[in-house]
Order: sequence, then structure tokens, then C-alpha cells
Amino acid sequence: MRRKLVAGNWKMNGSTGSIRELLQGILGGAAEVAAVELAVFPPFVYLGAVEQQLSGSAVIWGAQNMCDQGSGAYTGEVSGSMLNDFHCTYVIVGHSERRTLYGESDQVVAQKFAAARKVGVKPILCVGETLDERERGVTEAVVGRQLKAVLDLEGIGSFADAVIAYEPVWAIGTGRTATSGQAQEVHAFIRAKLAELDPALANKVRILYGGSVKGSNAAELLAMPDIDGGLVGGASLDAKDFLAIAKAGC
Ligand code: PEP
Repeated sequence: MRRKLVAGNWKMNGSTGSIRELLQGILGGAAEVAAVELAVFPPFVYLGAVEQQLSGSAVIWGAQNMCDQGSGAYTGEVSGSMLNDFHCTYVIVGHSERRTLYGESDQVVAQKFAAARKVGVKPILCVGETLDERERGVTEAVVGRQLKAVLDLEGIGSFADAVIAYEPVWAIGTGRTATSGQAQEVHAFIRAKLAELDPALANKVRILYGGSVKGSNAAELLAMPDIDGGLVGGASLDAKDFLAIAKAGC
């Protein structure tokens, strides 16, 4: 049985005050959704404050990105060991905004995945096709390629502690959600790809769906057999909306 994970990617949003309030709201409702693992992903500079507020609670936290290098002359970057200093459980790697806006290739994403594992931070690997790729019928080829880059570098065993997030790029921040059928199809494809290498492990890996998830569509998505939670952007900035999504997964 895979425990569902509902992860809030705050992107570049929030302030000291608004984050404190948002976390108060989430903590206020967390006990009611204890069946689901709840995680938040603030901008780097707020990790210390988030750690302070969440320590000892059931809500865990992580980072939205990290450097593939361990330390050194990489101005503006943040390493995996720095994330460890703030007791991050997870780090998101390969979010489509990193891939498209900052030119992160499949190889760089795979190196970030490897660097996270090296320091014991669990990677959440994002994969997903653009609208053009979906319309050209190459969704599986794209997702398969993104997955293969990590499998080639780190092997199937590396997914024992990792999470995958299927996020069709055309559904992120657009209000346009994949239907539960469309999402399930790709999730099943991802699990089958892993199962070709290790069926038992494939059955244990959590695969989240991301792309305009909200309280009103979460129940249908999270009811699908291969959807093990959500990676939530916009709706995670409101405690009520975020908790409503988690409730749908209980
Ligand atoms: C995301 O940032 O990963 C995401 C899915 O965003 P949204 O929920 O706003 O579409």
C-alpha cells in the first residue's frame, strides 16, 4: 500500500509573514488528513523559518531545486548538504519551469537526482510533455526519455527512496487539468517502465500527478490506481485549498 503524498510547490511566492500564516493554517488542519503525507516546498531563503515552525509536526518540507555539485564556485547555487542543514526530506528536481526557463537538460536533472541521493535527500523527479509533444503523440517517448536519463545514471535501485511526479507542462499553472484517464495512462506507463527492471520496486514507487490540481478535481485524480498523490502549485498557497486536496486523498 503506497501512502499518498500531497506536496505544495510554493514556487517564488510568499514572505516571512504570509508563510507563517499559511503554515499556521496547514498545521491547524493537518491532523484531519493524517492518512496523507503532507510536504511543503518554500523558496530556499525561508527554509530555516519553515523548519522552525514545522519541527515536531506531521508536516515535512523540502526544496524546489538544488545544485548538482557538492560545493565550490557556483555563484547563486544551493547544495544538497545545505538542504540537509535544514533537514529537508525531499528536493524537487527537473520541474518543467527549471527545464524550460533555465535550460536544465535530462542529464543535468539526472545529476541533480544523483547529488540529492548522495547526501540522503529524497528526490522528487518531475517528468512531463509539452502540449506540442502531446499533440504529436510523443508523450510516452518524452516521459520515457526523461526517466531513462536517471535510470542510466543511477539505476532502478535509486528509485527505492525517490518519488516521481508526472506533470504535463500544458496543465501547469494553466487551469487546464489532465483528465483522470489521461493522467492514469501516463502513470501506468511510468510504472510499467520501472517494472521492466524491477517489478517489486515499481509497485512501491509513488507517482504524483501535478498540473492545476485543486480541491474540486483532486478526488477523481487521486482515486486512480497509479496516482499516489499530487504535486500542487497554485492551490498550495491557500491552506484551505491545500488541505481540501489532502482530504481527497484520505
Ligand atoms: C507545479 O508547480 O508543479 C504545479 C503543478 O503547479 P499548478 O498546480 O499551479 O499547476
